[in-house]
Amino acid sequence: MLILNKKSDLSAFLSPLSHQNKSIGFVPTMGALHDGHLSLLKKSLEENDVTVMSIFVNPTQFNNANDLEKYPRTLEEDVKKMGKISDSIIVYAPSVSDIYEGNTVSESFEYDGLEHQMEGQHRPGHFDGVGTIVKRLFEIIKPTTAYFGEKDFQQLQIVKKLVALYVIPVEIIGCPIFREANGLAMSSRNERLSENARKKAASIFEILQQAKLKFEKQSVSETIQFVKKEFEKHPEFELEYFEIADETTLLSTEVKEPNKKYRGFIAVFIEKIRLIDNISLN
Ligand code: AMP
Repeated sequence: MLILNKKSDLSAFLSPLSHQNKSIGFVPTMGALHDGHLSLLKKSLEENDVTVMSIFVNPTQFNNANDLEKYPRTLEEDVKKMGKISDSIIVYAPSVSDIYEGNTVSESFEYDGLEHQMEGQHRPGHFDGVGTIVKRLFEIIKPTTAYFGEKDFQQLQIVKKLVALYVIPVEIIGCPIFREANGLAMSSRNERLSENARKKAASIFEILQQAKLKFEKQSVSETIQFVKKEFEKHPEFELEYFEIADETTLLSTEVKEPNKKYRGFIAVFIEKIRLIDNISLN
């Protein structure tokens, strides 16, 4: 396994491969790897000649200093986990200065309004940070294909929009949400939960699945009310939002329209840790 910390070394390594028309798969992550990340990695390894995985806790996408500080950083263990899958992965683990060159600020992005919904509303500046890092990593790596999880569904749609708006020649592949045995969506943040909270957090997916059943027969507002009431029964959670939105525009909806795909999106706090999840509703 090749571990590189400098973008100049990575570009120098990859550029001859690009010239030989080798396909480069890319999986961007913030590390503290779990099986969800590894599912993206496996898909890239299957589909490409070369796979690059980046591990970089991107400061500009955090709107909460405490969350950034507490974000788990476990590079050594991450490399071991990757090594169990393949020894031919290229790991890019840059420093903040390698990426930001002393100017750790975001560029500003507009993604046709996708940035104003849900995570964009509740985490001001978050998608500017995401756009900044993803665009820079694409410029350095020049991947043929990049893999993103549906766990961060809004991010996936925003990255697709970024690529379209800036005409970046990369195919974006969305990958299904990996869950723990109890249904909790895998997340690096789960590591910060107590054992008890991790068990209780299984309710998030249980409630989402029940919401899906409600949505089949009932209205949007009845489904939303159902979810709110369910969370009121669980005082250990603080529900930040539950929204039902069109999968493509991410605009929340009040009525069901035929031929549209809807998804339920949720953000909840438990033990002050913010967890997000989503579910396809039809
Ligand atoms: P992160 O390290 O949290 O920034 O995530 C890196 C990539 O892994 C993103 O594209 C995420 O959407 C994806 N990812 C994170 N958790 C999961 C999961 N449970 N299942 C599938 N993909 C995931």
